[in-house]
Order: sequence, then structure tokens, then C-alpha cells
Amino acid sequence: MGQQSTGQLDTVMHESRVFPPTPETSARARIKSMAEYQQLWDEAAADSPAFWARLAKEELHWFQPFTEALRWNEPFAEWFVGGKTNASYNCLDRHVAAGNGDRIALIWEGEPGDKRQYTYAELLREVSKFANVLKSLGTKQGDVVSIYMPLTPELVIAMLACARIGAIHSVIFAGFSAEAIADRNNDAQAKIQITADAAWRRGKVLALKQTVDEALKKSPSVEKCVVLDRVNEAIHIEPGRDFWWHKLMAEASDNCPAEPLDSETTLFILYTSGSTGKPKGIRHTTAGYNLFAKKTFEWVFDHREQDVYWCTADCGWVTGHTYVTYGPLSAGATVLIYEGAPNFPHEGRFWELIERYKVSLFYTAPTAIRAFMKWGDHHVEKYDLSSLRVLGTVGEGINPEAWMWYHRKIGGERCPIVDTWWQTETGGIMMSPLPGATPTKPGSCTMPLPGILPKIVDSSGAEVDATHGGWLTIAHPWPGMLRGIWGDDERFKEVYWSKVPGKYLAGDNARRDADGYYWIMGRIDDVLNVSGHRLSTIEIESALVSHPNVAEAAAVGRPDPLKGEAVAVFVTLRGAEPSEELRKELVKHVRTQIGALAQPDDVRFTGTLPKTRSGKIMRRLLRDIAAGKETVGDTSTLEDYSVLASLRSEEE
Ligand code: AMP
Repeated sequence: MGQQSTGQLDTVMHESRVFPPTPETSARARIKSMAEYQQLWDEAAADSPAFWARLAKEELHWFQPFTEALRWNEPFAEWFVGGKTNASYNCLDRHVAAGNGDRIALIWEGEPGDKRQYTYAELLREVSKFANVLKSLGTKQGDVVSIYMPLTPELVIAMLACARIGAIHSVIFAGFSAEAIADRNNDAQAKIQITADAAWRRGKVLALKQTVDEALKKSPSVEKCVVLDRVNEAIHIEPGRDFWWHKLMAEASDNCPAEPLDSETTLFILYTSGSTGKPKGIRHTTAGYNLFAKKTFEWVFDHREQDVYWCTADCGWVTGHTYVTYGPLSAGATVLIYEGAPNFPHEGRFWELIERYKVSLFYTAPTAIRAFMKWGDHHVEKYDLSSLRVLGTVGEGINPEAWMWYHRKIGGERCPIVDTWWQTETGGIMMSPLPGATPTKPGSCTMPLPGILPKIVDSSGAEVDATHGGWLTIAHPWPGMLRGIWGDDERFKEVYWSKVPGKYLAGDNARRDADGYYWIMGRIDDVLNVSGHRLSTIEIESALVSHPNVAEAAAVGRPDPLKGEAVAVFVTLRGAEPSEELRKELVKHVRTQIGALAQPDDVRFTGTLPKTRSGKIMRRLLRDIAAGKETVGDTSTLEDYSVLASLRSEEE
């Protein structure tokens, strides 16, 4: 039982496949070898403020140069002190000024198939106009603008318009309830709301404005609301409060110079709900975040001018902030965005888009990859995916078998896969392979990016050895790090900085193998404790997913008088029906894959697993179900409440 108190974990996974980059990929990459990566990493490790200062001077536009790279008053960081820049300028004006105004910035396809695209010069004009609209509604620097919109170009335009004038955006995913919007608006004291009449989702119309009307009844700080006409729905317009986007834009000037802003000006707040308690408003600031977004985008995707880049995330999540908006646009990339669902009107929609737009860099989530596998390969095989060059994943660990499917079926065994580990709090990618340099191992996010110093520790703060997992911490400040929780410094200190002195506590478990590769083992709170052995969720789940009939799996602990906890697994199937025989076979499969210790005591078949709206499996809820308890805690981020009900009814 000794390990229980130290935070160390046992590892049971054996994954030995290694995929080096092809010589062609390496030859044309920005970072061509592990030696080059190591050199950059060493430069950063030797003096990380100096390393980032060098990059900041090269990569961002400075209205006024900074005088100090980092002022660190743990846990409060200030990067590029004394400097003035503007994220909207870095994303737009900089490219136009460099003669690249005609380059395509955004390509958009709506769910019904409507299409639009914007060059950098056009996007700059639209953003400038909307910045003037915001000003005309009384928006001042430091005001919070709440955005609740479908994934349209106007969502990106609204974000960049805020950045242009120093207003703070708080994007709320357009699937959240009125209650969730009101909570976030009140916490942030939002002054302006931006929304749309409605949104398309799987052919249905979602009445966004109606939800916002409800929310605004409980959001007294909101004075004005701008409504995009997306679907042509009849909606309520509150005189004096609500305004149509197109009417205001028709009168707005397209001249709005970007405001020179102090480096540490808040760029955005993004609410993320921890496993319990009220959502935290994660605060990111201008210069450090912008630099980190740009450089990590360029390193990880090895972006080139001719690339067409598609990140499937919505701007309601941090991935849509950093890798739809600020990273790729700062890098001058051509970015595809798609409004709708991956299976509407058919299960091959994503592959159809890749073929149509010749997408070369593709970034999506493991939950989507598992769904594609379940839907079947024939949806993929109809389309030409030869334009693809680099594939990415984000949001959860990817089970090695899902990784192999992505590699074979989508990547044609030629595209490197970048499994990117990061969080809303980290602002950008912290660990990932580099396409031209890093040999990949399925299921590992491989190595830290330059300037990032992870340490795996036990609960006393001591580093654990390679045979064990422990808490993942980051030892040095980095420019993209969160600057705090909106309005709650105490909670910021408590959650991230109190348990391991001097280091940022990520809340994930991880292990580092003998080759120095990092493996994320799941959230600290999700660890299973079986007979004194602490096991990670992902290892058991990956063993299950390696069975040909398992589409998805979630492993949780359930109280057991003998073992402390028993292993309960929830499984969704592909190509098979639930049966007692299959149940036994899966138990045996896990035992042979990773050993008797991790063998499931309960196997439950289910049609779907409960997930957050961003696609992460909610193990906490399953734990309660496995233990036969009523569900407690915050379920406002749950994708589909009916999943819970059906899981309950599937209980014996
Ligand atoms: P969020 O801030 O909502 O994006 O969630 C961040 C969390 O997602 C991390 O703390 C991890 O638990 C998980 N996560 C994100 N990317 C990965 C990855 N590549 N591998 C494993 N877990 C991941």
C-alpha cells in the first residue's frame, strides 16, 4: 500500500512499435533531426527567458520593444515586460504589410454546404469593421465580450476584433445552456454579447438567440447584444439592446488601427470546468500567448506557405483559440473551418472536405478518430486523401490501436502523427513529436517542446524513476502559461501551485520511459487503486481497444472490500453484439495484454459513453454508476444527458 501515499503509479502497458519520420519528411522539415531538436531544446533549457526573448523579437510586431523577458513572482508571471504589441496586428496587418494580403486566410464551409473564403486583406477589413462596431457599442479596453456563436468566419472575426481594441473575449461553446452562459457572463461581468439567430447541427436548427435571451435575463452586466443572421430564423429583438450584425457592419468604417497593448493585457478568458466545482475562467494575456501559439504551431505542424491546414475544433475550446485562430493566423497559414458535424449528411464528410480543399495538415481529437473507426473504413476509402502531410491529435490520450488506424487509413502510412499534449491552462502544445525529427510511438506524446521542462514527481515533489508514473509538473514558466483564474488568485494558487512547491501541477499522471518518451496516463483523480497498485485508466482502456470488437472503453474503480478498488469497464462495440461470451473474452484479452492485475471485474456494454461537449470521456460519472451511487458534481459540460439515463437503465 506504500504507493498510495506517494502518488506513484504502476505501469502495465507494453508498446514497442516505433515509427521514424521518412527521409523525405525529414529532408524538407524545419527541424530535420533529433540532433536539431536537442540543440534547440538545450538552448532553451540553458536560459529560457533569453530563448523566448530572442523568438519574441523575431516573431511578433512590437509597437514598443520590451525591456525584460520574464518577471517571475511565483505563481505570477509577466512576459516581455514593457513591450507593446497586438495579437490582431500579428495575425493580420503584419501579413498584409509584408505583401501577402492576397493569401487565403480562411476557407469556410457551413454544414448545409455554403462556402466562403477570405484573403488576409479581406479578413483585416472585416475585423477592422467589427472592431469599430464594438467601439460604437461602447466597448472599451478591458471590457469583456461574451461570444456564443456557431463556427462561422464571424466567430473568428469577433475574436480578432476584440483583440484589436484590447477588449477581452470569453467564447462559450454554442452548445451550452442558458444557465451556463449566465454563470460565465456573471463571473466575467461581460458587457457585450455576440451571438447568432441560430446554428445548424446535423440538419437541425439550434435556436441560439432564444437561449441567449434566457441567459441575458440572468446576466445583468450585459448591456448590448449583436446577432449574426446565420439561419434566417425569426427571433426576438430587444429594442435598444439587440442589433443585427449585418446592419452595424454596413455602417462601420474599415479603418481601425490596432491598439498598441501592453504585453500582459488580458487577451481572453476561457472557462473550463474541472471535475468538480464551478467553471474556472482561465486567463491568457497578449504577447506571451501569441508567441507561444505561433511558434508551437510552426514547430508541431511544420507549416509551409502552400499548406492548407484544418483543425476540426470549435473556437469554443482552447484548441480553437490557439490552433484555429491565433497560432495559424499569426503564421500566415491558410485555415479551413467547418461548421457542422462529422457525420452529416454522411459519415465521410470530413474526408470529402480533405479531398475538396486539398488539406495537408489535419488536426482532430481521439474521440472523432474512434467514431470514424466505428463507422467503417468504406467511408474513408471513397476519397482521395493524398494531399495530407501531417496528422495531429489532441484532447485525450489516443489508444495505440486508434493511432494505428489513423496512421494506416488516413495517413496512408506516410504522414507523421503528432500526438499533442497540452491544456487550456498551458495555452499551447507542451509535448509533441516534431514531424521531421521525432520517431513516434503509438500512444506517446513523445517529448517536450523547446522551452518546456516537464518533471514527473511523487507527492513529496521528488522525481520518480522511469519504471513508475507520477504527477506531471512543469518546472519553468513558459510564455503561454495561464496568468490566473479570473477573479480568483487563491484558487489559482491552490489548484496549480500548492501541492508541489515551485512547479506547475498539470493534474495529469504521466510516465517517462527509458528512451525519455512521455506517456500521459490520465487525470490524477481518475487513478484506480487495485490491491495497493495504482493503475492508470488509459492503459486498461487501450488494452480493450486493441480488441477488434471494441470501439471505445472507459475504465474506472469501484469500491471493493478486498482489493480496495475493483476494475469496472464500460465498453462500446463495433461489429459485434453484447454477449456473455464476449464479456469473458474481453476479460481474458486484458489479462493477456497487460496482466491479471488490471483484469476487469465488471464489463458493461453500452451504446455510448458519457462525454464532455469537447469529447472527453467523463469517467467521474461512470465511477458513480459503477459504485451504484447517484451522480454528484457538475454535469453542465456533459454532451448528452440521455447517455447517463441509458447507462443507468443498463445496470442490472
Ligand atoms: P482541456 O484543458 O479541456 O483541453 O483538457 C486538458 C486535458 O486533456 C489534459 O490535462 C489531459 O488530461 C487531456 N489531454 C489533452 N491532450 C492530451 C494528449 N495528447 N494525451 C493525453 N491526454 C491529453
